[in-house]
Amino acid sequence: MRTTDAVWLAPGEPQEIQSDLVTRFQEEYGRAASGTWFAPGRANLNGEHIDFHAGRCLPMALAHGTYVAAAPRTDGKLRLRTLDASLDDGVTTVRPDQIGPDAPAEPAHWSHYVSGVLWALRELGRSQPEFAVDADFGADLLVVSTLPIGGGLSSSAALECASILAFLALGTPFGQDNPLQDLNAALTRQNRTDLAAACVRAEVEVVGAGTGGLDQSAAMRARPGKVLSLDCRDFSVTPLDIGCIQRGYRLIAVDTGEAHRLADGQFGDRRADAEAAARLLGFDRLRDALPEHPRKADVSHVLEEFDRLAEQLEALEGRSIEACRRRLRHALTEMVRSEKLHHLLSGEAYGVRHIASTVGDILTAAHMSMRDDAEVSFDVADLVVETALAQGAEGARLIGGGFGGSVLVLISPAAIPKLTAALERISRGIRLLDVAPSAAAHAL
Ligand code: ADP
Repeated sequence: MRTTDAVWLAPGEPQEIQSDLVTRFQEEYGRAASGTWFAPGRANLNGEHIDFHAGRCLPMALAHGTYVAAAPRTDGKLRLRTLDASLDDGVTTVRPDQIGPDAPAEPAHWSHYVSGVLWALRELGRSQPEFAVDADFGADLLVVSTLPIGGGLSSSAALECASILAFLALGTPFGQDNPLQDLNAALTRQNRTDLAAACVRAEVEVVGAGTGGLDQSAAMRARPGKVLSLDCRDFSVTPLDIGCIQRGYRLIAVDTGEAHRLADGQFGDRRADAEAAARLLGFDRLRDALPEHPRKADVSHVLEEFDRLAEQLEALEGRSIEACRRRLRHALTEMVRSEKLHHLLSGEAYGVRHIASTVGDILTAAHMSMRDDAEVSFDVADLVVETALAQGAEGARLIGGGFGGSVLVLISPAAIPKLTAALERISRGIRLLDVAPSAAAHAL
């Protein structure tokens, strides 16, 4: 095992990042940027692998996120460059005929997230004229992020949401009516919901990843200082105060340094297992297998019904019955955990210590479910959770889709130095991020 310093990854100073980005934009494209837009990454208190089952998720926006500087073009082309060292391959030019789901998305390239978003905004503009993108609209874009890429903190959704705001500002009547920062005040909650849905379309239909909408909703609709309780049945949100968690405690994201690849097969496989289980039970979406207010629900009757129906089967839609059962159990218990947390954070009548330890227990139970039932955890994440608990954390869990990514830790500040020292002994790539619930996507 290598020993090195565990390092805090700072979100940076937005004005400084913006000013550097604008200077780089001028150097790269030989013209001035028209503006800069930002979208945050997210940490999810609970609700992994259940957005597509219409479950409840509890995300928060991070102060870390993705900045996009852009200027419009009139030839329909996109010219795109990222300053992320691991992805930067110079300027990528995307012609108008290469934008959209019919254009080949292979080989996978980060530019598909951005071109996909322009296509999705055009689609949205068909039914909402204020979002209609000019036919010959194109743009030059420069991207920089303070998030780990592939770290389970939704750098992809941050890229989509910052890009869609840039396109909205530069290529639509909405942008012409509300220049630069006016855009922030002009965007209604419904606008934000629609733009998040457009980003989901880009990711599903153009990039080909199986997102259920949690990440885009968090980036586009988060509230500072709040957990967003997102009901994926109708994508309604209830902002919940998390001061009760944070008074005396801190939430930290530990980026394990192991990047995941959601677009490859494993994530889709987990989802397909759970969906096969839902079909066997006769549900279109697994949320409907639970009662209206399932925070105290016992899920064993659903599992028993699954066992009864699966008894004579050798496989379920060609999938392992045992695997489908485990994915089902993860989805059901994760949905119940979300409802419990929603209830707990909505209440006033709890002591801080009581809430912290209850939330911590739920986090840790969720990790076990990610490890044993969803089977999306990995060695370093398990070790980080174990280490955090051994150093006095109230709870810890893997967040994001898994197969790499970050661990969320609830801990008292006094225990952080010991945790940091212990994490130093685990892996060279580990970085710590402070989770301070921050604002949604906006123009700078
Ligand atoms: P995450 O949990 O970070 O969202 P994903 O695997 O879903 O992980 O998305 C990571 C992908 O998103 C990258 O491989 C890249 O294609 C794209 N991406 C994210 N941030 C950036 C960036 N700053 N510049 C270029 N591409 C990015």
